[in-house]
Amino acid sequence: MSKRILVTGGAGFLGSHLCERLLAAGNDVLCVDNYFTGAKQNLAACLDNPRFELMRHDVTFPLYVEVDEIYNLACPASPIHYQHDPVQTTKTSVHGAINMLGLAKRTRAKIFQASTSEVYGDPTVHPQVESYRGNVNPLGPRACYDEGKRCAETLFFDYWRQHKLRIKVARIFNTYGPRMHPNDGRVVSNFIVQALKGEDITIYGDGMQTRAFCYVDDLIEGWLRLMDHTPDDFTGPVNLGNPVEMPIRHLAEKVIELVGGKSKLVIARPLPIDDPLQRCPDITLARDKLKWEPKVNLDQGLDRTIAYFDGLLRANQDVGRM
Ligand code: NAD
Ligand code: UDP
Ligand code: UDP
Repeated sequence: MSKRILVTGGAGFLGSHLCERLLAAGNDVLCVDNYFTGAKQNLAACLDNPRFELMRHDVTFPLYVEVDEIYNLACPASPIHYQHDPVQTTKTSVHGAINMLGLAKRTRAKIFQASTSEVYGDPTVHPQVESYRGNVNPLGPRACYDEGKRCAETLFFDYWRQHKLRIKVARIFNTYGPRMHPNDGRVVSNFIVQALKGEDITIYGDGMQTRAFCYVDDLIEGWLRLMDHTPDDFTGPVNLGNPVEMPIRHLAEKVIELVGGKSKLVIARPLPIDDPLQRCPDITLARDKLKWEPKVNLDQGLDRTIAYFDGLLRANQDVGRM
């Protein structure tokens, strides 16, 4: 049955893929975004669809609309973006969550929160399970994001207990794919753009810190399964990510191999403050409850992402560094 679905942050990387999937399933989609890191052109495939509506709006301000479901994604996600205006980052996560939860309470909409593996901070439990409470530095430069997202989770669970809202909380691990922002400093976009331009690949620290990379289509499938999972009492939090962990150095070598250029690895700077040394999701819960696991392997996902950035470069768009 067709639903009216609100997607906050829908003009961003993940949000634009979600809007496409929701429209393809026959839903009405209302996307709200303040275009801080998102762009209308990410939604090129949606704009002509009569079931799609786009509104410029900042979620730190109240929003009165009538919807059946809400996906709350609004928040800059890459370290250089969320550290650009850290106070606004916390406001977006916290005030944004309050407003969207207030909207869900009034409309009785089911509401999804895009939480993050960053709630685990620099983890001392590995791989990370949902019951692990994390190791976040509340004072450091990443705290505006990490603590903002932790507070948003708290709000979700308080509205669930206090107001009986139907909530769905996903803890998302590093995700990549077409429409990542070319200048957002994230490792996958940086390495691909550098390799395509034949520039040095910038490793931070010794490159032995680990991450696990999920292709965007796999992630969105997990979100839809979580939102549609019945009974509604499965709230999460549930980890969604690809459990294939690798050192950043390995990712760099793989990108060079697939792009086929002459780029060299260079240690460009020390490891940033509070940069987690290791990160990998335990997805047992998602496998059990949602029957979900990633299907796209790293080579396939990188190939598609490289093709996207190659297209951007060929179109002579600005993919310089910020
Ligand atoms: P993104 O930066 O591409 O998208 C975020 C969107 O939110 C942008 O379109 C931006 O303009 C919008 N936005 C920011 N502040 C806003 C505000 N105050 N009001 C309205 N819109 C606002 O990032 P993304 O990678 O698509 O991430 C989407 C969500 O998923 C974020 O909540 C992020 O924290 C979460 N997440 C992403 C990853 C990942 O690997 N990409 C990992 C963990 C969690
Ligand atoms: N809110 C909103 N849209 C709505 C309903 C509420 O943006 O349709 C916002 C409103 O700004 C409010 C917040 O959500 O402050 C929290 O709402 P709630 O009903 O929980 O609390 P209250 O209205 O008592 O502050
Ligand atoms: N990183 C790197 N070179 C880059 C960009 C990032 O070595 O050009 C490292 C970064 O220090 C971190 C990892 O890659 O250890 C992932 O960084 P990203 O910002 O993509 O995600 P997050 O740190 O939020 O997981």
